[in-house]
Amino acid sequence: MKTVDLRSDTFTLPDDGMRKAIQAAEVGNSAFGEDPSVNRLEETIADYFGMEGGIFLPSATMAGQIAFKVWTRPGDYIIIEEYGHGYYFETGAMGLISGAMPRLLPGERGILDPDDIRDNIEHIEHHYGRAALAVLENTSNYGGGTIYPQAVLDRIFKISKSEKLPIHVDGARIWNAIVETGVDPRRVAPPNGSMSVCFSKGLGAPIGAVLLGSKDFITEARRVQGMLGGVMRQVGFMAAAAQYGFEHNMHRLEQDHTNARLIAEGLADNAAIELNPVHVKTNILYFRVRDGAKRAARLIGDLETCGVKAWNLGDLVRLVTCLNVDQQDCEYAVEKLNEMLR
Ligand SMILES: *Cc1c(COP(=O)(O)O)cnc(C)c1O
Repeated sequence: MKTVDLRSDTFTLPDDGMRKAIQAAEVGNSAFGEDPSVNRLEETIADYFGMEGGIFLPSATMAGQIAFKVWTRPGDYIIIEEYGHGYYFETGAMGLISGAMPRLLPGERGILDPDDIRDNIEHIEHHYGRAALAVLENTSNYGGGTIYPQAVLDRIFKISKSEKLPIHVDGARIWNAIVETGVDPRRVAPPNGSMSVCFSKGLGAPIGAVLLGSKDFITEARRVQGMLGGVMRQVGFMAAAAQYGFEHNMHRLEQDHTNARLIAEGLADNAAIELNPVHVKTNILYFRVRDGAKRAARLIGDLETCGVKAWNLGDLVRLVTCLNVDQQDCEYAVEKLNEMLR
C-alpha cells in the first residue's frame, strides 16, 4: 500500500547525498570552537542573513528559548502571537527558563499587526512588567504557513528601533518564506534582535538549528547554551547534514508549495470542510471539518487505513507537504480525502 505522510515536514529522512556529506564531515570539539563543519555552517548562515554570528544548536526550540533568556529578566514580558510556537507549543519553557511572561496578541493567521505590537509596549513601569522582546513567527506554523508581508516586517522593525524593543524572528520555516517571495534574506532578519532557523523541517536534516544575532548577543547566548546543556562536541556530522540541506534542498521547497496548493484546490469544493485555497501560502494547510472534532478524528483514522497520514487538532486537520511526498502522492491524498468527506 502507498504511504503518503502529510503529518509534518519533520518526518524527512536523509537521502544518499546527505548521508555522504555526514560521512565525509570533518569534525572536532565544537565546545572549543574546533569543529570545522560547525564553524562553516554558523558562518554560512550568519552571512546569508547578514547577522554577525550564529550558534549551531540541537533544536529550534532550544534556539528560541535561549533567545528569550538572553533578552529578558524574570518578570519581563514577551509580546507573542497567541498560538506562537515559543509560547503555545514549547511546554511552558518560557516561564521555567526565563521567568518571563507572554503578552499574547491575536494574529491574522499568525501574523501580528505592527500597531498592536506598539500599543502593547507599556511605559508605566510600576504597574506593568517590562516589554523586553517581541516574537514574530515567519512562516507561522499554526497560522497555516503564512508569510509576514515585507511592508509589515519593515514597519515592525522600525517600531523596534524607535521603541528600543528587540525582535526575535522564529524562522523555523523562514526558508519557505524566502523561496516563496524571493526576498533578500537580509531583509527578513531583524536589525535589532535575533533569529532562529531550523534545518530539520523542509530542508530535510535529521536535527539542528542556528541561532543568529550580534556579536554581543551570541556571547551571551553561548553562556545560556552551556546552562541548558546544549554545548555539543563532534557534532559537525549534523552540521554537515544541515549545510547539505541548506545547499541542496532549499529551492525544491517551491515544489512543496505547489503541492500544498494542489491539495487545497482539490479539496476546495468539498462541502464537508472549510478551506480557502487563497490562504495557502507555503507548505502547510489547515481545514476545518464542519461536523466537528469527533468527525475530524475519525477522518484521520479512516485515512490511515489507505496510507494517508495527517493530524487533527480538534476540528482542524493539518496537512504538510515536504520532500517525502510528490505530486502523485498529493493527488492520491486528495482523492482519498474527497472520498471520505462525502
Ligand atoms: C518546529 C518549530 C520549532 C521547533 O523546532 P525544533 O527544531 O523541532 O525544536 C520552532 N518554531 C516553529 C515555528 C516551528 O514550527
